[in-house]
Amino acid sequence: MYFFDTHAHVQRSRSGRCTNVAELFLRARKAGIRAILAPAVDRADWDELVEMTAPRGVCLYVAYGLHPYFVLKITVSRARDLVEELRLRVLNAGSEMRAIGECGLDFLRATSSESRAHQVEVFRAQLELARHTGLPLSIHCVKAHGPLVELLRERPTPASVMHAFSGSAEIARELVGAGHYISFAGNLCVQGARRVVEAARAVPDERLLLETDTPDQTPPARRPAANEPAFIVDIAARLAELRGASIEEIATLTLDNGRRVFSVEAPFALHDFDDRDHDVTSE
Ligand SMILES: [Zn+2]
Repeated sequence: MYFFDTHAHVQRSRSGRCTNVAELFLRARKAGIRAILAPAVDRADWDELVEMTAPRGVCLYVAYGLHPYFVLKITVSRARDLVEELRLRVLNAGSEMRAIGECGLDFLRATSSESRAHQVEVFRAQLELARHTGLPLSIHCVKAHGPLVELLRERPTPASVMHAFSGSAEIARELVGAGHYISFAGNLCVQGARRVVEAARAVPDERLLLETDTPDQTPPARRPAANEPAFIVDIAARLAELRGASIEEIATLTLDNGRRVFSVEAPFALHDFDDRDHDVTSE
């Protein structure tokens, strides 16, 4: 059973409560993770991501972008400069880069009309970059699903990923109808999370993704630990339970979907590594 963690800020695990990122990767590999997409949050992350390496058997891909929280911390003119820098970074990136993100809208954080307009401007620029390059976006959306759907509809947008989906089943269906993928994270495991549970049942198999959002959104059973890719099994188990599927089926279909949306073609190092043959603590 193999997994694709399609949204894990492993570059941020170092600065959090995880002191040894090498061991985090080994635990991930042991849990069956064979691919991770690590999205940037701010400008400093772009350089961090270039430096990151994963152990043999785990494919690490990255995304460059400007997160809506970060956008709120910078001026409009600084954001315009960074958008231009992002454009050059994306156009010149190597094959490790598979998406633009993390980007999006967070109207829980942005409460004034000015701050929302600022987030929309920076998100729209990243949408244009995705349209120009054909790359998918890794999209953060909190309390802004209506405006998000409108922005995606303005012009054709490459098939993209709604990360840590928190919207309704109706919004999920609408996004799927527009060709996008819905990714579920630890919020699905929280007791009483009714809306996201309904959404998790509504998404068709071929548009479903799994992620941890490491180091945030630790699944309830793992708290107070910082989140890490190995905990993806909790989310897969919950999704399997909700959809009447086996955890193996969820692992396989979300892995296949992750490969499709992020253009992770063969050869993909799925079978060339078997943890049973290796003592993971000795590497
Ligand atoms: Zn994130």
